[in-house]
Amino acid sequence: MGNTCVYLGPELARYGFGDPHPFGTDRMGAFQQEFERRGLPHHTHILPPVSAPAKLLELFHTPTYVQLLEGKTQTGKGYLDEGDTPAFEGVLEASLNVAGTVCHAADQLMSGACAQAFVPIAGLHHARRTGAAGFCAINDCGIVIEHLKLVHGLKHIAYIDIDAHHGDGVFYAFEDDPSLIFVDFHEDGRFLYPGTGAAVETGKGAATGYKMNIPLPPDADDALFDKRWPAAWDFLNKFDVEFCILQAGADSIAGDPITHLQLSSKTHRMVARALSTLPCQRLLVLGGGGYNRNNLAQAWNDILQVLST
Ligand SMILES: [Zn+2]
Repeated sequence: MGNTCVYLGPELARYGFGDPHPFGTDRMGAFQQEFERRGLPHHTHILPPVSAPAKLLELFHTPTYVQLLEGKTQTGKGYLDEGDTPAFEGVLEASLNVAGTVCHAADQLMSGACAQAFVPIAGLHHARRTGAAGFCAINDCGIVIEHLKLVHGLKHIAYIDIDAHHGDGVFYAFEDDPSLIFVDFHEDGRFLYPGTGAAVETGKGAATGYKMNIPLPPDADDALFDKRWPAAWDFLNKFDVEFCILQAGADSIAGDPITHLQLSSKTHRMVARALSTLPCQRLLVLGGGGYNRNNLAQAWNDILQVLST
């Protein structure tokens, strides 16, 4: 039994869209099969998903948007945004399983019950306070950041995002908030959704200089990532980080069907290992994107192997 909590259960797998959408409900199973094949259940503490009341969403989202979700969850018809994020029956309940589990994981880390926690179906980093975006019906990253501020009184939360897409829903929601230290590696927005995250975007107002965006060329590999990492690591270490969130999207790995980056899971291992050495000893890893099932299974389990063995 290691010091790493992993959340597993069909309630989490429910967040996903039907065929042929790339964010299918089979992503959880692809991860879990490899998790078991590697014997990682013997090295981690497995916990069931936790649901939350709809009110939890209002830590981040507007009541108007939560009402829209409440309506769409019954019919499952149409889209939650302009055409990227379909509604599905039970979308609210599935989203509440993600948000509730992520906040439970944060509480476990704050209580010292574990030093690292992993939620595979989570890290929905595109949703805005006012609506869905980019396969994300809610923004659990934003919800848990607000939860850590409100319930635990934290003032220096670090969010590191290595998903191929820019974490725009997190970035713009906290652009002027110095309690969020933000580092995002992503495929250059000139080539990939959502088109944002230029290097000049470093935060606003009181949070100027608290955010680092690192756009990568579409063919970026591990060697290029390794060259860019030290600046991000030095930046993070300038702050007295109390809690660290890693959005570990596997769509930055070569062979993803909807992105172009050419990283390998070596980068995911390297980043997870580094973040686990931060003095706060509280690392929350969220699965994020990743649409090649083998890539997500390898990347997420590589991270867990680094953290737990
Ligand atoms: Zn992504």
